[in-house]
Amino acid sequence: MPSDCIFCRIIEGSLPSSIVYEDEIALAFMDIMPINPGHVLVVPKKHFRELSEMDEGTGAHLFCVAMRVERALRASGLQCDGTNLLQNNGPDAWQEVMHVHLHVIPRFRGDEVKVHFGQKEASRAHLDSWAGKIKTSMEQ
Ligand code: AMP
Ligand code: ZN
Repeated sequence: MPSDCIFCRIIEGSLPSSIVYEDEIALAFMDIMPINPGHVLVVPKKHFRELSEMDEGTGAHLFCVAMRVERALRASGLQCDGTNLLQNNGPDAWQEVMHVHLHVIPRFRGDEVKVHFGQKEASRAHLDSWAGKIKTSMEQ
């Protein structure tokens, strides 16, 4: 466990957290700077820096836990008309804590969340070209 990892320290209990769920593989706790009230982080107990380092079994389990948290949020009485699941990998993709985590974010009409992804329409030629590269890479 890297001693400078905040989430490893939460998992071992040496930093405080507000836990909503725990099992042998995963821990779910409240984000300390919530985007909306009820913002939960789901993390593997084993330290992986990014998604690409993590095994698929752990990833599948994290997603199952996130689904259970999402369902619980909707029935919790907190404002939650919809949700975003967000998972950042690498500092260039907004990852600040280098221990894999999945955000479960409650959303409601009139909340003040703003995200600008800057999407641009692409030509079919570009889409086919990018698909080809990824498809080939997946086959290796
Ligand atoms: P990311 O930008 O995807 O790496 O998100 C990291 C998240 O971790 C942010 O939303 C932070 O608010 C949250 N965070 C950082 N430190 C703590 C902590 N000690 N307890 C709970 N959440 C934290
Ligand atoms: Zn860690």
